Amino acid sequence: MVLNDLGSKLANALSSLSKHTVIDEEIMEDVLKEITKALLSADVNVQYVVQMKKNIVKAVDIDDLAGGINAKKMLEKAVFNELCNMLDGGDAKSEVKAKFVPKKGKPNVVMFVGLQGCGKTTTCTKYASYYARKGFKPALVCADTFRAGAFDQLKQNATKAKIPFYGSYTESDPAKIAAEGVQRFKEEKFDLIIVDTSGRHKQSEALFEEMRAVDEAVNPTMTIYTMDSSMGQMAKDQAEAFKSAVDVGAVIMTKTDGHSKGGGAIAAVAATKSPIIFVGTGEHLEDIEAFDTQPFVSRLLG
Ligand code: GDP
Repeated sequence: MVLNDLGSKLANALSSLSKHTVIDEEIMEDVLKEITKALLSADVNVQYVVQMKKNIVKAVDIDDLAGGINAKKMLEKAVFNELCNMLDGGDAKSEVKAKFVPKKGKPNVVMFVGLQGCGKTTTCTKYASYYARKGFKPALVCADTFRAGAFDQLKQNATKAKIPFYGSYTESDPAKIAAEGVQRFKEEKFDLIIVDTSGRHKQSEALFEEMRAVDEAVNPTMTIYTMDSSMGQMAKDQAEAFKSAVDVGAVIMTKTDGHSKGGGAIAAVAATKSPIIFVGTGEHLEDIEAFDTQPFVSRLLG
């Protein structure tokens, strides 16, 4: 069986421990090698992985291990803690940034980027509603002139959520629309101005050119990379490509109500050095939750 997904690789490495009744240093080393390999293949920073391995070894005292079951539990716990630390970010030891939280009363401009179909437009409205419930004054700007129907979709979602919106049926320059929309909502004292950009089927230079232009036009406080949680192997390359075009600072993982364990998210976090802030849990407006690291890692290793 070829395991492409990071979650499967990690779970597989740990479950290999069950085959042994007594865990010695050699077996533990083999398992750690597998875990390290899996993390490196997901592009988690080398130094970080080395440090993670050291921490795991430190946390598992091989001489204290009575038998296989205990060893497996201890090793699992150590790997679990290390993955949680990595995903949480925000402290001096982590290269992953702290989670972005908009400041009430300030003109926060948040730009959403991602591939077409990942759930970006839906997530923009969910994000807006989430913060409207917290007392913010959000507004939506549709800077997607590529996909026919994009503005209508945003308009429909925004109307349902009672969020003001801006877009155009005639203007074809997304940077111009984005600048106008953001300007207008700033003047009207909105404090969370969300800009939806266009996605393409796959990463293309034209998409990135356009994104850069919108980025320059609106100078966002935060850029959120939206990714489908079912993205496996490609997660690393995609996230890297977006990060190299614009200053991604947060990740939202969509469609976590599906079958995937979301192992690609670790690669996306590593590639963008940005934490996961929310997850999409369904098609409805209220189906958005703040990202909770521990249950996510449990599921990944389960
Ligand atoms: P965009 O092309 O990235 O803007 O994607 P859309 O927002 O149009 O979403 C594509 C499809 O994914 C739509 O059918 C959405 O209803 C669906 N979708 C978005 N987020 C979620 C989610 O968290 N769970 C599920 N099940 N479906 C989602």
